[in-house]
Amino acid sequence: LPSRLKRPDLLCERAFLGGEWVEAERGRTFEVINPARGDVIARVADLSRADVARAIDAAHAAQKGWAAKSGKERARVLRRWFDLMVEHADDLATILTAEQGKPLAEARGEVLYGASYIEWFGEEAKRLYGETIPGHLPDKRLTVIRQPVGVAASITPWNFPNAMIARKVAPALAAGCAFVARPAAQTPLSALAMAKLAEEAGVPKGVLSVVTSTDASGVGLEFCENPKVRKLSFTGSTETGRLLLRQAADQIKKCSMELGGNAPFIVFDDADLDAAVQGAILSKFRNNGQTCVCANRIYVQAGVYDEFARRLTAAVEKLRVGDGLEPGTDLGPLIEDRAVEKVCGFVADALEKGGRVLTGGDPHPLGGRFLRPTVLADATPQMRVAREETFGPFAPLFRFADEAEVIAQANDTIFGLAAYFYARDLSRVIRVQEALEYGMVGVNTGLISTEVAPFGGVKQSGFGREGSRHGIEDYTEMKYICTQI
Ligand code: ADP
Repeated sequence: LPSRLKRPDLLCERAFLGGEWVEAERGRTFEVINPARGDVIARVADLSRADVARAIDAAHAAQKGWAAKSGKERARVLRRWFDLMVEHADDLATILTAEQGKPLAEARGEVLYGASYIEWFGEEAKRLYGETIPGHLPDKRLTVIRQPVGVAASITPWNFPNAMIARKVAPALAAGCAFVARPAAQTPLSALAMAKLAEEAGVPKGVLSVVTSTDASGVGLEFCENPKVRKLSFTGSTETGRLLLRQAADQIKKCSMELGGNAPFIVFDDADLDAAVQGAILSKFRNNGQTCVCANRIYVQAGVYDEFARRLTAAVEKLRVGDGLEPGTDLGPLIEDRAVEKVCGFVADALEKGGRVLTGGDPHPLGGRFLRPTVLADATPQMRVAREETFGPFAPLFRFADEAEVIAQANDTIFGLAAYFYARDLSRVIRVQEALEYGMVGVNTGLISTEVAPFGGVKQSGFGREGSRHGIEDYTEMKYICTQI
């Protein structure tokens, strides 16, 4: 891997703690595996809970000084960090693909997408406006200011090793918080490379730490029980989110939770079918189906069901599966064996319950963590795929008759992250976008993520928003000041 990099020093195996690159006690490390080849690409410092406490101390010591800088000064540092990420996008993408598996072009897209949050929130640092409120009495003056919450910590998954962290650290630093990030143990290298560039950009010592560790629950406990941490931002499963919220309750800790999804993707009779197929491919198969906003259930109205199924199948058969580092790959491997078993289990369950495979449904000749993308017709609400998040390249097609029926089915889930639909009738578009109980809705598009818009869910998909002018609010406290004159 280092020989593929222009800057081999971006491949870091030490953790970044309080501005120092450190090893773990007794040199403890864990292996990072390339999911396409199964080989070890790095051995990264495996920090203990006590190390994480040291990172929090360093963040606590540095935070006030960082917050005391003007928004413009913080913006300058973030701008340099953004520029460095763009300059080194190829290396960051190579590292990302090597540890996560997604195709290089997609990895590069993620790096630039992650960087865009750093650019955006750097700009927002200058616009952390308060309010003045007309006084309720002639001699009272009321103002509202926004202040950084203090030390913020994050726990993130492996599916977007760069962007998940960028979306959190950028608003935190912009607001004047210090930040301790714990990346997923499968994908720590992207986070460490970002930290390297943050250091070069001039992020002061202690303001950012990246604590790599296999002890997820120990780190989670430290973040929740250490009173110096004032905010926890988590992206991951609803199950783990629930656990962290319980742990955070004792100290009434401020939390943002970006949790699981079960996105419906609805194709109405009046849809532009080619556009819907293209959108379904993007939404379902991006990152090989391993995103929380991936279409999970595809509902197609009876009049276009067969034709949509035919066109989607043809498009899926064109997707090339392979090593993400090889040019021309559309779908990489899944992240780990467990993920392969889960997706295969969902397909088997659907077949048992009467599903019909249109393409795929069997292992890929490459073996290992590679799967053939699968399209299945005659999906029913009884199947596991109807209720749970697949997180893999499996597209089940449900048939529906009318709008009311499909809205009821689409909303019949504990989740409420993203939903998509394709239709052309204007009144229907407006009715459906308002009726879907989701934090985000894509209308005639399968791609909705951007740094300028608020990303987040409702129901058990969590709370808090990342991106847009709202994204920085999660890292600030509102203070109301009443002045008697
Ligand atoms: P997934 O692994 O499916 O992405 P998880 O919610 O299990 O979803 O994991 C998301 C992140 O949360 C990962 O970095 C994982 O290591 C971490 N994690 C898992 N369990 C805990 C826990 N008990 N406390 C803190 N972090 C956890």
